[in-house]
Parts: sequence; structure tokens; C-alpha cells
Amino acid sequence: MPSQEDLRRMLLRLDNGPYPAYKDIKGSYDFPGFRLIVDHVQGDPFAAPSRMRVRVPLDVAGFPPDLLAGEARVVGVCSFLARRFHREARRASRPSGSGKSGRIDIDAPGQEVLPTTAALVREGAVELRFTVGLPARGRRILGRAAAEILCDRVPELVSRALRYRNLNPAEVRAAAETNEDAEALRSRLPELGLVAFVADGAVLPRLSGVDPRPLGAGAVPFESPPSLRVEVDLPNRGRVAGMGIPRGITLIVGGGFHGKSTLLEALELGVYNHRPADGRELVVTDPTAVKIRSEDGRAVAGVDIRPFISNLPGGVDTAAFSTQDASGSTSQASNIVEALEAGSRVLLVDEDTSATNFMIRDHRMQELIAKDKEPITPFVDKVRQLWEERGVSTVLVMGGSGDYFDVADTVIAMDAFRPRDVTRQAKAIAERYRAERRPEGGPAFGAVTPRRPLGGSLDPRRGRREESVRSRGVKTVLFGTEEIDVSAVEQIVHPGQLRAVGAALLRVRALADGRRTLAEILDRIEEEVRQGGLDALTDRPVGDLAGFRRFELAAALNRLRTLRVRSEAGRD
Ligand code: ADP
Ligand code: MG
Repeated sequence: MPSQEDLRRMLLRLDNGPYPAYKDIKGSYDFPGFRLIVDHVQGDPFAAPSRMRVRVPLDVAGFPPDLLAGEARVVGVCSFLARRFHREARRASRPSGSGKSGRIDIDAPGQEVLPTTAALVREGAVELRFTVGLPARGRRILGRAAAEILCDRVPELVSRALRYRNLNPAEVRAAAETNEDAEALRSRLPELGLVAFVADGAVLPRLSGVDPRPLGAGAVPFESPPSLRVEVDLPNRGRVAGMGIPRGITLIVGGGFHGKSTLLEALELGVYNHRPADGRELVVTDPTAVKIRSEDGRAVAGVDIRPFISNLPGGVDTAAFSTQDASGSTSQASNIVEALEAGSRVLLVDEDTSATNFMIRDHRMQELIAKDKEPITPFVDKVRQLWEERGVSTVLVMGGSGDYFDVADTVIAMDAFRPRDVTRQAKAIAERYRAERRPEGGPAFGAVTPRRPLGGSLDPRRGRREESVRSRGVKTVLFGTEEIDVSAVEQIVHPGQLRAVGAALLRVRALADGRRTLAEILDRIEEEVRQGGLDALTDRPVGDLAGFRRFELAAALNRLRTLRVRSEAGRD
């Protein structure tokens, strides 16, 4: 294998040559203490930068073995390393020349700690994947600058970011242990009968609506009401106390601006682990929890929404409901049924982002508009059936209607950012002022009808390309010529997740033979990723994918406007 000095000589030889001659450096190089692999060389200075990897053998990297013992620790440490490499690379980058010349970049994690392809431990080495803008003046190779970047700065970066002796041991340990504790805490939820846990002392509010770092001064730390306090022993932190949200139906009530939505948002993201000092390291939620909201305008393909909606005007079929422009209520009903279809056991709902007529229908309205003129059965009549028949819990922010007191198991009032357990008071009020409204929608929830997607309806072609899938941030997937809008899918938090979802949609297309149900397809893809890592989704190593859940993959698929499915219900 060529060495560092071979690479240097090669780059010096290419100096002032035409840019495409850079292609010659594709390959692997032996550097002292690590290997540099050039996977892809950009075609011109303005194209996407060149993709590279470094692999540092574990014995050279020098991490104490216990820091990498177990998946959760590895993921925590890798997230730390990617962050560290990112910071060091920013310092080491000296953009010069044309296009992206001279930039070293790595896909950096946000507040959530996810498995990624930017940093991983495999086959006895720590592997980091990054990009380099190979330098040019005009379209001429700057060979000397390239040699300096790849042969001097990269080794320097590797040493600073990947050699244990150059890291702060307390920070690395915190990254490993924090992630392991969060994982352990989440895995304890079922035996505790909980859907979520919020530790005392947690900081839930964020700096701003666009800055997910913790609110510093002025943040009121979380403090569990005594009646809901649960203690859990964690592998590293030892015993922690906090509020356990029991299975069943939980209402979060309280005046406006008292912290209801902030609590629910922390629960939404509690399906993921968080970095040390995030404030939500010990806020964990059932991994199948899905945020449900209304989303008018979205497309829906063959969803059986009869549990909530039937007899739409114009004879529209709700057993296999399809539309290119859902309303507030039909979109929210579809979002719930789709979450159930994908296997969710916890629904998270906020009145702020719900359709009112989907959530409530009070006595007076029942009197004015008879049931046979109202296609919608409100959620208040379905939420208990979901729990009792299907074991699906709901956590619901509801400051606006006391009709939910009758169906709730637990009522938590947020009062100046402090939770109180007001279950008893709410139940007493429900007794004293009996609701005059009549339950609607019948005695049972109804069927969740499986759908069988048709792969032919997913067309990734674009122009001359057979497969073109890209994504923009966390909002849009460009699948072929179709734009999939996932901006309302709030549990997609990192662009790498959406890139991975895009790649996984190609797997959906291959597996969707019209016989497999969507749930079976999701199982299959989950299993492929579990066995082969995120690399299973791409035909070559890339460094910008992050772990995603089946629910977000399903969400992207469900919003593809060309999606067609076969549904049992459609045939009856
Ligand atoms: P609600 O949903 O009850 O109307 P929000 O959750 O939207 O209230 O919170 C209102 C504001 O209070 C937000 O700006 C939020 O960042 C802030 N906030 C929420 N929780 C806390 C807290 N524990 N400490 C300080 N500020 C908080
Ligand atoms: Mg709110």
C-alpha cells in the first residue's frame, strides 16, 4: 500500500495539472498510526467535496477498553469524536482558491446522540468519514496545498481528535456513560409501567425556537410531583429520581405559557439520547412514541381512517382513504392510523398543533349537528379504546377542554414550569359537572387495516439518472422528481436521518411487491440496518447518514404523493 510520502509526491506531481487528474489519488494510504482512504474524488472544485476516511486501529487510538464496551458507549463516544473532529477541522480549514478548496468537514451531531456513519468503531479501528475540498486555482490543481492538507493537516487532526491521550478523559467518559445511562433508563420503562421518565433537575426549555441548546439563565429545573416520583438505578449515575408518566392516558393541563408544550417536546425527543449537558440526558420516552398533529394539505394513500371518520360527503371512501389534499382532521386521523400501522404504542398530541374538530365535539354542538351529519368521531371518544383494546397510551397537552377529564388516568398541571399531580381534583370535577355529551363512534376502536405498498409507485428516476434521491435539511426529500414534504414530522431532528430515510426509500421500493405489508417492509429494513449498520443502505461508504426510526421512514413514504397501496379494506 502506498504511504503518506507516496501520496505527497503524487500530489506535488499533480501540481498545476487539470483538476480531473486528482482522480488518480483515489485509494488507500498507510500513514504512521492510521490509514487514509480516499473514496471519492470530486470532478471539479465546485462539486460536492471529496469523500475520505481515516481508520485508526484501536490499540493506536488508545481508548481504555471499558469506554467502548457495549453499543451504547460506542455510540456516545463516536458522537463525541465526530463533534471534536468537527471543531478541530473548522480550525484547521483554511479556505483558499476556488470553490470549496481547502475545506475539511465532517457531519457533526446536534443535541441528539445518534448512530452515524461519520464516526464508527468497526473491525478493530475507529473510523471517521469526512470531506475535503481539494484545492484549485481556477481549474488547476494546487498540488502543494493539497499535500499540505492531506499529508500534514489531516494527520494533525487525527492526532488531536482521535488519540485518547489528546482528549479530555472526563469528557470522553461522560459521553460514554451518559449515553449508556439513557439507554438503560429507557429500557427500564416497560417494567416500571411507564411511557416516559423526566429526571428531577432536567432542563427542558431551549435557547429559542431555532436553537436547540439548553436555556441557560432563567430555566426552571424540572421537579417531579411527589405522587409521580419514581426512582431508578442507572449503571453509571446510580440512583436517579424523576417523574414517571404511567401508561394509559395522561393529560398535561395548565395555563398558557406555563410550559406544557415544552414538556411534550422534551418527550417527543426523549425517543433519542442526548449529549452531556443538554439538560435532557435523563428524559426518555418509549422508543415507539410518535408525535401526532394535524397537517392539512398532505397526501394520503389508502389509509383506513374509519375509526375516526366515515360517511364523508360525496361518498368518499374512508376505508381506504386517499387524497392529495387532506384536511386538518383527515390528516390527523391518517397520522394516527399510520403510526399504529407502523407499530407505535404511544401517541403524543398537543392541542397547539391539533385540529379542534378532531379533538372535541361538545354537547351543544352534538345537539345542533346530529351525528349523521358529522363524519368525525372526536379523539376524546377513541383515546380510551386505543388504550384498552390496543394497549396504546396517549400523552395529550390540553389546556382548552375539560371533556378529557373523564377519560384520563393521570392529569398533570404545569404551573409556572412546575408539574403538579391534579388527577384527583380533575376526577372530582368530572364527577361534579357531569358531561352532557354522548360518546360517539361505537363501543370499539375499529380495525387498523394493513396496507401493501406498490413499489412501482415509487419512481426515483430524474432526467438521465436511474436513481436520484436527495434531501434538504430536515424538511424535504427529493425522490426522483417528487418532493416529499416532511416538515411536519417533528421527530426528524438531523439532516443525516433524512438522508438515510431517502436511501431507505429505495429499499422500500425494492421490497414493496404488493404482498408485503408496510409493517413487514419496515421490519425488514430495520433488520438490515441492525445487522449491517447504516452502510447497508448505500452501495459505498458515505459519512453523512444518521440513525432513524421506522416511524420516520414510514412518515416519508406516507407523504410521497405518488404512493399507491393495496388495502384489504379497499376491496370490501
Ligand atoms: P404552553 O405550552 O404551556 O403555552 P410553552 O411550553 O410553550 O407553554 O412555554 C412557554 C415559554 O416558557 C417558552 O418560551 C419556553 O421556552 C419557556 N419555558 C418552558 N419551560 C420552562 C422552564 N422550565 N424554565 C424556564 N422557561 C421555560
Ligand atoms: Mg403550548
